[in-house]
Amino acid sequence: MVAGPGAKGEQKRERITEMTTASDGKWVCTCCGYVYDPATGDAALGLPAGVPFEQLPENWKCPICYAAKDAFDPL
Ligand SMILES: [Zn+2]
Repeated sequence: MVAGPGAKGEQKRERITEMTTASDGKWVCTCCGYVYDPATGDAALGLPAGVPFEQLPENWKCPICYAAKDAFDPL
């Protein structure tokens, strides 16, 4: 009797974490290091909490150094 392939090596278990989005949609300003956290929003601009970075107005700027949105990188 020959054991078929697959008898061994099927012990892999995928660990599905809840880290699919690296850090809750935070974006960091590459100029000054300011982190936009959608959970906080941007009170200074009247943006309520829960606004994703992608939905910020195109004229939104870093509140610290006034860099444009394209100066931000996802964390
Ligand atoms: Zn900045």
